[in-house]
Amino acid sequence: MPTLVVQTAFLGDVVLTTPLLSALAAHHGPVDVVTTPLAAPLLETHPAVRNVIAYDKRGGDRGWRGLRRLGRRLRAERYEHAYLPHRSLRTAALSLLARIPSRIGFSGTWSFLYTDARPKPALGHESDRLLALADEAPGAYPPHLRPTAEDERVVADVLAEIGLDGGFPFVAVAPGSIWGSKRWPYYRELARHLVDRLPLVVIGAREDAALGDEIQRAAEGGTGRHRVVNACGKLTLRQSAALIGQAALLVTNDSAPLHLATAMGTRIVALFGPTVTEFGFGPLRVGDVALGLDGLQCRPCSPHGPPRCPLGHHRCMRELTVEAVTRAIEDLGALRRRS
Ligand code: SF4
Repeated sequence: MPTLVVQTAFLGDVVLTTPLLSALAAHHGPVDVVTTPLAAPLLETHPAVRNVIAYDKRGGDRGWRGLRRLGRRLRAERYEHAYLPHRSLRTAALSLLARIPSRIGFSGTWSFLYTDARPKPALGHESDRLLALADEAPGAYPPHLRPTAEDERVVADVLAEIGLDGGFPFVAVAPGSIWGSKRWPYYRELARHLVDRLPLVVIGAREDAALGDEIQRAAEGGTGRHRVVNACGKLTLRQSAALIGQAALLVTNDSAPLHLATAMGTRIVALFGPTVTEFGFGPLRVGDVALGLDGLQCRPCSPHGPPRCPLGHHRCMRELTVEAVTRAIEDLGALRRRS
């Protein structure tokens, strides 16, 4: 009988759940996953996944009625095991409504609704902590995504806009974040410097397109030798993963593209402001870089990063200089080796 995983948290959490999916598939065969409509296409092509069920908990499926409807649909599948990495009442209630006899989740407020509550490791990378739900050792399975040939073809069209034919290296930058205080304010200045070395691709959601245009104008208005394309809003998430997978380097805030790059094996320089890597969401691989301002008393100030700096000065990001980021990129050697 098939196994179900319910993961309806943020996009980054879903990417970091892919090691758990791989581990469960190795034990039980490919799994079914309930996730958000946004994350569903990312998992549809994952080799550990049989079916993806999109659950729009804030839209068409919201409320008790939507939960019951999905519960009935899942019940018909007669799942034997449900793995519940997201500690929420909604997740626990869904597995009960689906009448899944074995419900495995992390200890917490709602664990009395599980049949097997396991302690979530307090330390380590989130992908490894989630993997603990399958009793696997840290690092046993890495985050992984699999874009399609069609995704790669769309990426090739975007790269062709600046004359790249797939063999030439480029840098991807991801300046956005849904949490305002996590956005580093100097991508324009960094782009002006980077474009002297390699072509740039700005990636992000449609809401980031205006910032992408500003970065493009700033970089191409200087003396840089290379070109910039603003791909914000032009690519699906899986296509964005495909594009990141082809980049020599990704420069990003502490946001979902960081985890896409981890899953695609691309070098990362990640910029942390109100959050810290000790939360478990930093780069995973040795050699990737997380930069943050040391010695700032107010840092970290929230688990996710508030919409705006509560103290008004936003020093955690404003004092993370272009020079420091440039130095980290140079030290990483991703530009030097490939250019
Ligand atoms: S309070 Fe401190 S850590 Fe939080 S956003 Fe402001 S400067 Fe950054």
